[in-house]
Amino acid sequence: MTRVFSGIKPTGHLTLGNYLGAMRRWAAVDQHRADALFCIVDLHALTVDHDPARVRRLSRQAATLLLASGLDPELCTVFVQSHVDEHTRLSYVLECVATDGEMRRMIQYKEKAARERERGGSVRLSLLTYPVLMAADILAYGTDEVPVGDDQTQHVELTRDLAVRFNQRYGHTFVVPRATRPQVAARVMNLQEPTSKMGKSDDAGPGIVYLLDEPDVVRKKIMRAVTDSGRDVVYDPEARPGLANLLEILAACTGGNPSGLSGVYESYGALKRDTAEAVVEVLRPVQERHRELCADPGYVEGVLRDGAERARALARPTVDAAYRAIGL
Ligand code: ADP
Repeated sequence: MTRVFSGIKPTGHLTLGNYLGAMRRWAAVDQHRADALFCIVDLHALTVDHDPARVRRLSRQAATLLLASGLDPELCTVFVQSHVDEHTRLSYVLECVATDGEMRRMIQYKEKAARERERGGSVRLSLLTYPVLMAADILAYGTDEVPVGDDQTQHVELTRDLAVRFNQRYGHTFVVPRATRPQVAARVMNLQEPTSKMGKSDDAGPGIVYLLDEPDVVRKKIMRAVTDSGRDVVYDPEARPGLANLLEILAACTGGNPSGLSGVYESYGALKRDTAEAVVEVLRPVQERHRELCADPGYVEGVLRDGAERARALARPTVDAAYRAIGL
C-alpha cells in the first residue's frame, strides 16, 4: 500500500490555506487510499522566536483541528513529531550527507532568515537545518508520496536528493518519495496582499482567514479583500492576483473551476459575497466537530498517544538500518 506522510507546523492558528491546500485532501482522499501518517511537526516550530506555552497549546489545537477536519484515527496515524525520537536520530545522519550550500539555497531559509535579520534578531541554526529534519520526517517512514502545497516542493526535492545520495553511498536504505500537489488551492494567497501566500505564521491580519474564525469575521475579511480597480471578473493570476485568489478559493470550496466561475459573475461584490458564504459553509462542520472534540480532551490525548506508538514502530527499523549503513 502506498505510504503517505505530511505535516503541519504549530506556529500559528491554522488557516484556510492549510485547509484547502492540504488538510481537506488528507481527509477526503489520502487517508482512504493510502497508509497515511499526519504529523504535527512541533520541532519545526522552534526554528524562529517562539513562546513555549504557545507552541504546546497550538500543537494540541492543530491535532484537534486535524481530527475535526475529518482525519479518522481508524484510517490513518495522527501524531506529534517530538513524541517520536526517530525523527531527530535520523536527522543527524542526514546532516552527514547534506551540504551547507544546499541548505543556504533553500528559498524559505533565505526569506525567513532575512526577516529575522530585519527584525534585528539572530538566525537560529535550526532554521538552516530545518529541511534536513523535514527530510528525516519523510524518509523515516518509507514514504512514497508527500501531499503538500506549492511552498513545500523545494523541500521535498531536497529530501529526494538526500535519499538518492544516501542510497548510492551506503546502500539502498530509503524509499525516494515524491511530492503531490492539489489541483486547486495549491497556493491560497493573503486577502490583503494577494502576491504572498496566506501563511499562519504571519501576525494575525485581516488578510488571513483562520479555521476557527466566526462566520461574520470570515465574511468581513472576504468582503474587504483587495482586488483592483477593474470591473470585469476575469481569471488572470498574473495581472489580477486578488481576483484570481477569490475565484480559486470559491472554486476550491464549491468544486468548480476558477476560469469557468469568472464567467458567472458581473461584479466583484457578488463574487465576494458568494465566496464568503462558500467559505463559511466549508468551515461550519469543521468548527462544529472542533467544539465537540474540545469537550473531550482525553480523546485527543489518546489518539496522539496511540499515533506516536504506531509511528515509532514504523520508523525504528528504517532509522536503525540507516545507522548501520552509515557505519554506526
Ligand atoms: P504554514 O505556511 O501555514 O506554516 P505549514 O508549513 O504548516 O504551513 O504547512 C502545512 C500544509 O499546508 C503544507 O502542506 C502546506 O503546503 C500547506 N499550506 C500552507 N499554507 C498554504 C496556502 N496558503 N495555500 C495552500 N497550501 C498551504
